[in-house]
Amino acid sequence: MFKDLEGKVVVVTGASSGLGRAIAKRFGQEKAKVVINYYKNEGKSDELIGEIKEAGGEAVKIQGDVSKEEDVKKIIQFAIDTYGTLDVMVNNAGIQNEVPSEELSLEDWNKVISTNLTGIFVGSREAIAYMLKHDIKGSIINMSSVHQIIPWPHFAHYAASKGGIKMLSETLALEFAPHGIRVNCLAPGAINTPINKEKFSDPAAKKEVLKMIPLNKIGEPEEVAAAAVWLASKEASYVTGTTLYIDGGMTNYPSFQAGKG
Ligand code: NAD
Repeated sequence: MFKDLEGKVVVVTGASSGLGRAIAKRFGQEKAKVVINYYKNEGKSDELIGEIKEAGGEAVKIQGDVSKEEDVKKIIQFAIDTYGTLDVMVNNAGIQNEVPSEELSLEDWNKVISTNLTGIFVGSREAIAYMLKHDIKGSIINMSSVHQIIPWPHFAHYAASKGGIKMLSETLALEFAPHGIRVNCLAPGAINTPINKEKFSDPAAKKEVLKMIPLNKIGEPEEVAAAAVWLASKEASYVTGTTLYIDGGMTNYPSFQAGKG
């Protein structure tokens, strides 16, 4: 538990499923005031609010599409109107789809970039502007991926968006460090969430993924949520402009594991 998170106002985008859901729930368990942004699944958000309240936390929900500037502004304003301030912004929402790059349409490219990268830009900008104005030494946590450094054929738009998140976050960290605002990335490897449901339900595909993970297991959303609360807490007060990889060692050149090469 991180005592200093109690009462902190936290926005989590794309929080009705997967990593966002686990992160929102964990902040609730830390007794933060959680603003759950959902895109389509209102029912799942209600379920999550129930779970957070049961754990003694507070939560509210707001619909919004992070690829739309006015929606991101609306989400942040809702948090401020509801809970009076904003301390932590978790820009989590993201999408991916598999397309060979020679067939990748501009429409698909724009959709992924506007959700994954532009959504995080606007979410970070709006949160930082509020924090600056009110002298809040807040924390911005941007959901990247191991694909911010590992190239991924058939997912060029996704990999480009995550690489962009890395450089955007590092730049913002540098720019706002003098104000005590910290900006960091989380970079999960292969985690058991709906985004991977199809892949992990196929035993052969799952086996191939496991070969790339030195710890030899698929991660759980709670293992990413644990990193998110730590990054937001005082325990990480000297951490900014960095990426915390939560990947079972995937970025550690697993093909060299046998000592050859
Ligand atoms: P997920 O599909 O369960 O979660 C994505 C969430 O984003 C969903 O709740 C969805 O409704 C929401 N969303 C999609 N488009 C949106 C929009 N325009 N506006 C607002 N919300 C929107 O999958 P997940 O694994 O929980 O993914 C969460 C984040 O983690 C993504 O950014 C993803 O790239 C990243 N990530 C996941 C993994 C993994 O293995 N699961 C690995 C690396 C990075």
